[in-house]
Amino acid sequence: MHNGAFCIARLAKSVYISSMYKAKAYSAASATSPLSSATITRRDPTEQDVQIEILYCGICHSDLHQVRNEWKEAMPTVYPCIPGHEIVGRVTKVGSGVTKFKAGDLAAVGCLVDSDGTCAQCKAGFEQFCSNAIYTYNAPDKHLGGVTYGGYSDSIVVNQRFVLRVPSNLNLAGAAPLLCAGITTYSPMHHHGVTKGQKVGVVGLGGLGHMGVKIAHALGAHVVVFTTSAGKKEDARRLGADEVIISRNADEMQKHAGSFDFILDAVSADHDINAYLNLLRRDGNLTMVGAPAKPLAVSAFGLIMGRRSLSGSMIGGLAETQEMLDFCGRSNITADVEVIPIQKVNEAYERLLKSDVKYRFSIDMASLKSE
Ligand SMILES: [Zn+2]
Ligand SMILES: [Zn+2]
Repeated sequence: MHNGAFCIARLAKSVYISSMYKAKAYSAASATSPLSSATITRRDPTEQDVQIEILYCGICHSDLHQVRNEWKEAMPTVYPCIPGHEIVGRVTKVGSGVTKFKAGDLAAVGCLVDSDGTCAQCKAGFEQFCSNAIYTYNAPDKHLGGVTYGGYSDSIVVNQRFVLRVPSNLNLAGAAPLLCAGITTYSPMHHHGVTKGQKVGVVGLGGLGHMGVKIAHALGAHVVVFTTSAGKKEDARRLGADEVIISRNADEMQKHAGSFDFILDAVSADHDINAYLNLLRRDGNLTMVGAPAKPLAVSAFGLIMGRRSLSGSMIGGLAETQEMLDFCGRSNITADVEVIPIQKVNEAYERLLKSDVKYRFSIDMASLKSE
């Protein structure tokens, strides 16, 4: 019964699809399989669609979580899984109703490929919080049934509403990670009004943190990086930090008590958040963009004293993502990337687990042609 109903619903939803084509991709067959070469089906562009030849795709830690089904409680992985949501490429074809793009244009796709467009969140430009938002991979595909397939592929077809423009001055391999790491760090700073002359902290110098430093610096803030490893001091300064604090040094931390306007916490491991809340000035904000698996202990005193606030943030809406790309274009900001061929993706995942990358892997999708 259940299966029958599912099949009918699937048939009804996919009935208006006129045609499909085969695309190359790298896919995981199960939570324990390495990613390997595969052929997948994509829809031909319909009226509102843009078809993009993918040139570069960044590797986000979420890709690894999803491939290994580590979020099975919230978002169980459907296999085969084709991850990738930091996509930059060139438009190859557009539907008849597409006005924003034409063949040959640079284009980008981030974490979202669709939403209902009608709810309060969508109308306010917060598509990322739409309850019907469709993620770029492992989300229900209303066109073909099954789930959406992400950017570890030679092409993708996306509704023009979810396709972004890429400033032509940016290095494309380095621009790809802006689509997740860039917007994840830009959005909370933008929302909390980070501006010239403010004191901004960035906790954790990984894929997200290094983008946070670059963006905060470009916004004109006095940037302070908190790290556990003294070895990262020089690099943090190169990325735009004005000061670097070894977070284990309580005396050094205490010197900065009550002085920060904003702190971006990009740590996904268990850590003492109170140590950072105490560094905020009156009405200062700490926003979490990392997601520790276990709940954190928060001292109410840290918040009460000085009316401080603790927030979270998740990527950004489409308009804000475009604004971030344009800002990065004007400021000439891209991620620091290590470009790899797709054949090295499994090795890259192992290195990612050891934080052995400065600071993001970007897959050169030309390498997929030989598969
Ligand atoms: Zn991501
Ligand atoms: Zn919506």
